[in-house]
Amino acid sequence: MSFETLGLSDAIVRAVKEAGYTSPTPIQAQAIPMVLTGGDLLAGAQTGTGKTAGFTLPLLQLLSLSKSAPANRTAARPVRALVLTPTRELAAQVEESVRTYGKYTNLNSAVIFGGVGINPQIKQLKHGVDILVATPGRLLDHIGQGTVDVSKIEILVLDEADRMLDMGFIHDIKKVLAVLPKQRQNLLFSATFSDEIKALADKLLNSPQTIEVARRNSTVEIIAQMIHPVDRDKKHPMLAHLIKSNSWEQVLVFTRTKHGANKLVEQLGKDGIGALAIHGNKSQAARTRALAEFKDGTLTVLVATDIAARGIDIDQLPHVVNYDLPNVPEDYVHRIGRTGRAGATGEAVSLVCVDEHQMLKDIEKLIKQTLPRQVIPGFEPDPTAKPQPIQLRSGGPGHRNQGERSGQGRSRGGNGGGAAARSGQRPAGAAPRSGAPARSGGGPRSAAPQRNGGGRGR
Ligand code: AMP
Repeated sequence: MSFETLGLSDAIVRAVKEAGYTSPTPIQAQAIPMVLTGGDLLAGAQTGTGKTAGFTLPLLQLLSLSKSAPANRTAARPVRALVLTPTRELAAQVEESVRTYGKYTNLNSAVIFGGVGINPQIKQLKHGVDILVATPGRLLDHIGQGTVDVSKIEILVLDEADRMLDMGFIHDIKKVLAVLPKQRQNLLFSATFSDEIKALADKLLNSPQTIEVARRNSTVEIIAQMIHPVDRDKKHPMLAHLIKSNSWEQVLVFTRTKHGANKLVEQLGKDGIGALAIHGNKSQAARTRALAEFKDGTLTVLVATDIAARGIDIDQLPHVVNYDLPNVPEDYVHRIGRTGRAGATGEAVSLVCVDEHQMLKDIEKLIKQTLPRQVIPGFEPDPTAKPQPIQLRSGGPGHRNQGERSGQGRSRGGNGGGAAARSGQRPAGAAPRSGAPARSGGGPRSAAPQRNGGGRGR
C-alpha cells in the first residue's frame, strides 16, 4: 500500500515522503479515502497510530483542490477547516503536521490556544487562514470578540474527542457547533467510545463511515513492561537508582499531580539528575522549552502529568516511568504508548506501592495481561505496610484539586479538577473508571460552578 494509491495529490505525497513515511498506517489507509469522499467519519484511534496524518492529509487535499482554494499563500482567505483539540500541546503538534504536509500547497494555517497573548492571534486571524487548529476555550474567546470568522467552515475535526469530554469541554464544543455553518463535513476522532461520545457522534455526524483501528492496549506487547514494588516513600530513591544504574538518558516520568511533579523535579535535581516538569501550572514558554530540551537530548528527565503529556510526540522514546499509577486505567495505555512507537521497542516501568494495588489490578484487567513484578535489591517493600487512601499522600484533596486543566486549552480557575481532581477523589480500592469518577460528585464535570469562578487565564 502506498500513499499514491490512496488518492492523494503529488504535492501531498511529496511532503509525506519527505517526512520519511513510506507507507500509510492502518488508520491512514482507511481514513484517507473515506475523508476524500467528503462524508462524515467516526474514527476510533489513539495517539501513536498515525491518526493526525489520517485526517490532515485528506483535509489538505480537499481544501487545496476545491473551487475556493486560494491562488497563493498570502492572499486573504476565510477559515475553511477547523480542528479542535483538548490541549495546547496537541494543537501545536497538529498544526505543525498541517504545515509539514501542506508545504507544497497554497494553504496556510494557524494555531490558537489559551495561556498566551491573544493579540498576535488576532493579527494572524485578521488576514485569514485556511486551516485553524484551536483549543475550545480560546476559540470561543475569539468568536465572542468577533476576531475569527467561522461562517465559511467546510470541514470540522474533533481530535481526541473523548479527552475533550473528560476535560469538561462539552459545553464549549456545543457553543462552537452552534455557530458553524450547518452544511459541512465532520470528522470525529476518539480513542474510546463512551455513551457520551456516542451521543456527541449522533448529534454531530451525518451517516458517518466508521473505522476502528487496533487499540493501543492490544499492541502494547512490543513494549517491555515491568512493575517494581516499592514503599511509597522510597519511590524517589528508586527512580534515581534506576536512572543512574541503567544510565538512562531520556526518561519520561508520569506523576499523578502537578505538586508531585514539582517535588520530584526538585529531588532529582539534588541527585544531580537533570529534570523539568510540564503541567498545567507551567507557562507555555516553560513547557515548550522543557519539551524541546527533552527532545534534543539535553534534558534527561521530563516529568509530566497525564493531561499535560497528552499528545506529546517523541519518536523512539526508550523509557517511560509511571512514578504514580494513573487512576484512570486507560491512561496507563496512553502513557506507555509514548514508547515503542512505530515498531521500536521501548520499556515502561511502574513504581507501585501498597496504595496502588487496586489501580494495578484495574490496569491488568484492561490490558488483559498480568505484568511481571521485579523487586529491586535494596528496595524490598515492607510486607506489613497498610494501604492509605491516595488522596492523603500529598497534602490531601485540597492540594490535588488544583485545576490540572488550568494550563490546558483554557484555564478553569484555581480549582478546575481534571486528572488531579480525580485522583484526589479516589481512595485506593475504589471503583475504577467505569464508575466514571468524572461524572460522580467532585469530578471535572461537576466542576461547573468552579469554572466560572477564578481567572480563566486565557
Ligand atoms: P499520531 O498518532 O498522529 O500522533 O502519530 C504518531 C507518530 O507516527 C508520529 O510520530 C508520526 O510522525 C508518525 N507517523 C505518522 N504516519 C506515519 C507513517 N505512515 N509511517 C511512519 N510513521 C508515521
